[in-house]
Amino acid sequence: MLRPRIWRDSFGLGITDNLCLVCIEQRLGRAMTIGDVITFPSVEGYPMSDTLHARLFPSKKRRRAATKKTKQLASKTGEAGVQ
Ligand SMILES: [Zn+2]
Repeated sequence: MLRPRIWRDSFGLGITDNLCLVCIEQRLGRAMTIGDVITFPSVEGYPMSDTLHARLFPSKKRRRAATKKTKQLASKTGEAGVQ
């Protein structure tokens, strides 16, 4: 479940509403992260999808690549302190 500040306040959705990961990320304008959820979404009897798992628990290798890419972008644009 997404944080109420996102689900209710930003998206204007209620407790019975549903969105798929693609629609959530379109509304967020970015990839979902573990900081966006208060409980892990699940469907009884089914494992978490690989895509959702990758969003919530990115591998160290992927995180390092993302950080490196962000630093490269920051150095190109002259921005500092981007994490
Ligand atoms: Zn959707």
